Amino acid sequence: MLRIDDLDTPRNQPGADTAILKCLESFGLHWDGQVDYQSSHQDQYQSAIAALGLNNHTYPCYCSRKQLSEYPGIYPGLCRNLAFQADQQHALRLKTPHTVIAFNDRLQGPVIENVGSQYGDFVIRRKDAIVAYQLAVVIDDHRQQVNHVVRGFDLLESTSRQLYLQQLLGYQSPDYMHIPVIVDHQGHKLSKQTGAQAVAPSQPSRVLFQLLDLLKQHPPAELRGSPVNEILQWAIEHWQPNSLYQQSSVTLD
Ligand SMILES: [Zn+2]
Repeated sequence: MLRIDDLDTPRNQPGADTAILKCLESFGLHWDGQVDYQSSHQDQYQSAIAALGLNNHTYPCYCSRKQLSEYPGIYPGLCRNLAFQADQQHALRLKTPHTVIAFNDRLQGPVIENVGSQYGDFVIRRKDAIVAYQLAVVIDDHRQQVNHVVRGFDLLESTSRQLYLQQLLGYQSPDYMHIPVIVDHQGHKLSKQTGAQAVAPSQPSRVLFQLLDLLKQHPPAELRGSPVNEILQWAIEHWQPNSLYQQSSVTLD
């Protein structure tokens, strides 16, 4: 299944989705069914927000960016008990109790967190009315009946909030596995923000081999330069995530 996260409309670049699809195809990564665009599921997001509100799990937050900058850590719940002000723009926050959330990450092992004290009341709909990532992804995974989530270690800290939202919405929780992210020698995750080069779709077989090597899968030398589908087939048959046990990152040479 392929999902395009396009809710953050001010940041969407026209044509970016087509480039992503082409890139995936060049790496031999195909998907079933139609591409799922988050933007076509606004009704679902809004009805989940309404349900959370009806059960008194949310409250409007009127804080300005400047006010929030005085609390760089956990939001101290300033607006929790304010009366509703219809004429004021506001974000929606989820009330987070001091509840322990525990799960067993398939690679990182047992994780035990307290959503209230570690993350605090977090935003589920931004002031500009855009549905926040934490809520959208929970609804998306439920809609697409996702039962295994494999993603970068940088999202491990989002998981307990997502599990809490799944509890509130009565959804089943998927299994999670957080794999290391690739970092440069300064320890920065490779991304546009840190000026990393984009993936080269022109050399998919070379990149795939390099990735398997980085992920400590020990691809055999004779696999180097093989067609993409052969490399992927080898990877499926030999995938051994345990060699990455409890690692948060791998460094690109
Ligand atoms: Zn507030």
